[in-house]
Amino acid sequence: MLGVLRRVVQEVNGAADFYEALQIIVTRVKGALEIDVCSIYLKSPRSGRLVLMASEGLHAESVGRVEMDLSEGLVGLVAARAEPINLENAPDHPRYRYFPETGEERFLSFLGVPIIQQRKLLGVLVVQHHEALRFDDEHVSFLVTLAAQLAGAIAQAEFTDEISSETPEVSHVNVEVAGIAGAPGVAIGRAVVAFRLADLDSIPDREARDVDQELERLAAAVAATRQEIEALKRRTENILPPEEALLFDAYLMLLGSDSLVQRSEARIRAGQWAPSALRDTVRESVRVFEDMEDAYLSERAADVRDLGRRVLSHLLPVEVSGEEFPDGGILVGEDLTASHLTEVPIERLGAIVSAKGTGSSHIAILARALNIPAVMGVSDLPVSRMEDREVLVDGYRGRLYVNPNPELRAEFLRLVRQERELEEDLRLQAREPAATRDGRPVPVLANSGLLADIRPSLNSGAEGVGLYRTEVPFMIRDRFPGEEEQVEIYRQILASFDPMPVTLRTLDVGGDKALSYFPVKEDNPFLGWRGIRLTLDHPEIFLPQLRAMLKASRDHNNLQILFPMISGLDELKEAMVLLNRAREELLDEGHIIAMPKVGVMIEVPAAVYLVESLARRVDFLSVGTNDLVQYLLAVDRNNARVANLYDPLHPASIRALELIADGARRAGKPVSVCGEMASDPASVILLLGMGIDSLSVSVSAIPRVKWVIRSFSTDRAEALLAQCRLLENPDPIRSLLNNALVQAGLGGLVRAGKT
Ligand code: PEP
Ligand code: MG
Repeated sequence: MLGVLRRVVQEVNGAADFYEALQIIVTRVKGALEIDVCSIYLKSPRSGRLVLMASEGLHAESVGRVEMDLSEGLVGLVAARAEPINLENAPDHPRYRYFPETGEERFLSFLGVPIIQQRKLLGVLVVQHHEALRFDDEHVSFLVTLAAQLAGAIAQAEFTDEISSETPEVSHVNVEVAGIAGAPGVAIGRAVVAFRLADLDSIPDREARDVDQELERLAAAVAATRQEIEALKRRTENILPPEEALLFDAYLMLLGSDSLVQRSEARIRAGQWAPSALRDTVRESVRVFEDMEDAYLSERAADVRDLGRRVLSHLLPVEVSGEEFPDGGILVGEDLTASHLTEVPIERLGAIVSAKGTGSSHIAILARALNIPAVMGVSDLPVSRMEDREVLVDGYRGRLYVNPNPELRAEFLRLVRQERELEEDLRLQAREPAATRDGRPVPVLANSGLLADIRPSLNSGAEGVGLYRTEVPFMIRDRFPGEEEQVEIYRQILASFDPMPVTLRTLDVGGDKALSYFPVKEDNPFLGWRGIRLTLDHPEIFLPQLRAMLKASRDHNNLQILFPMISGLDELKEAMVLLNRAREELLDEGHIIAMPKVGVMIEVPAAVYLVESLARRVDFLSVGTNDLVQYLLAVDRNNARVANLYDPLHPASIRALELIADGARRAGKPVSVCGEMASDPASVILLLGMGIDSLSVSVSAIPRVKWVIRSFSTDRAEALLAQCRLLENPDPIRSLLNNALVQAGLGGLVRAGKT
């Protein structure tokens, strides 16, 4: 059964269109279970009714015609209850309803299982048999497993069908796709798909601009692949056993055969560009092989895919090409990472859309720094079908609209204009320092360092750098940077902000920030060797970094050093020993260097409970809410599936922040918040109410954060915090704070998204 399952899922994923995908499911299931009928009913997003979409066994004319409410028939009952129903004699059941067009009276037994994707009912998968028999447990579990596995593919195929219709019907415009808010802002533009090299499934549909040129590209790629395989064959001749070496002959034969090359050529002549022509031909051949009964032959499907990838790697020398990127283009990808941004001209980038990731992924943080709207975790998005489609991106709510009609487009254009005006106004006010209405200064500093200074933080109104993530200089090299290299980097940033404070955080790699030249393989990297744990274990990496920071500060008096991921007092003690040692070494070497201010990040729950003891031993605290919230709520900050549970306004997170603020106050030390929560206007009110001393945010968020600070008095913020304490869930807390923003005249900042 497992083999059947795997093959059905694979075939469905490779289906050319939605209807083919549904047909594959009903045909394969009917064959595998040896039953009389297999049908799929899907819930129409418009009418909410269940419609028979595909069937093997029921009359073909009934497909597309039979439909019912959730309150009707057995299929409706499965959908309404959201659980399997297994009946020996269906016509005896009070909910049985007879649809004459299906010819269904011949079938007595009935088993229906719901198809559910992320709590949403998509439809019902039904099998029937003419005899009165109860389907056994194995059948039930098979169908439940299949339905669970297919739900994602069905949602995606359904969506592809909606967006890719050539002559859009009313139901095919303004197709809304839900994701997660990544970076605020709205944008309209054409999608450009960022594909991964040599990954057939990520190849976007594109038209051939010049058919002859595409044919030549294919021929050249096939010739290059042939040479590569022949060379490989020669190199391994004496190493591989003869039967393994036959594989290369099989590859060469496949390359020479009519099927792969000629069918790809035919597709190019029909108007496709070479990569997608190859993709479709390979998928077709893979299916043919997989269908073969002979186990050896069906395994050859993997060879065809491999060969396809090899040819593809010669077809695609570059990813998204800078010159071709349209003005205001929307970069769409399966799993976009910070490095994708280095490949596109940022000034032309309209928005970012990624099928994976969340608002706390580093690319989303970067998008916020660059002021580019981003929607993450759009798991239903058929990325390869998005090329060149017009897309409206709502980065506040984490929504996309594909194939917009003129009314929706006009509404979005109005929003984009309003946004620009608001930003312009705010930017002008951002130069002045921020203080609450009652005159309490709350400095707003900049987070920096994710990529080499992308935007000049200096002109943005930043009152210093509250968090400089030093891991970036480490990530963009192919070895650890040397002490002097680091001195140069740190000196530049200290000098440009002097006399404003600059907080350099020591290396925080591990988790989702990897160094290519120092691979660490762990099952749970976020609970593993990251931040201070790694640097304490490697003084030969840590000491040069500390020395470099101190040396860089020689002519400036504005350095602050921050230790990440502290979870206990011992770690702080050991880090301090190394810092003191680094300074003493430098003093011995004749450098006169003052001791900088030292702080710890509060981002591990253990540190919340030790906050007062930690605060007494350092000069300041900085709260990393990105990690603190992930650890407190046990929600991976990069996992789109649980992103709806990640909320800094969760009552537990608010209580933890209050504990931190109280602990710091008792120890008489200042506390700042440098996680993304500090950029969220609603959250800023609470942080003001708690008495947080300063905030450090993405450069693009500085104007709006300052606006919030100036619009509230300490009393008002404290009163709102007291009201929030009485609320038990994040949603009412957000509503209360949003209302407060509207009342204060900051309605323009109110959006539904989370940070
Ligand atoms: C945080 O965890 O909130 C933080 C600021 O650090 P990073 O996002 O780099 O983990
Ligand atoms: Mg962190």
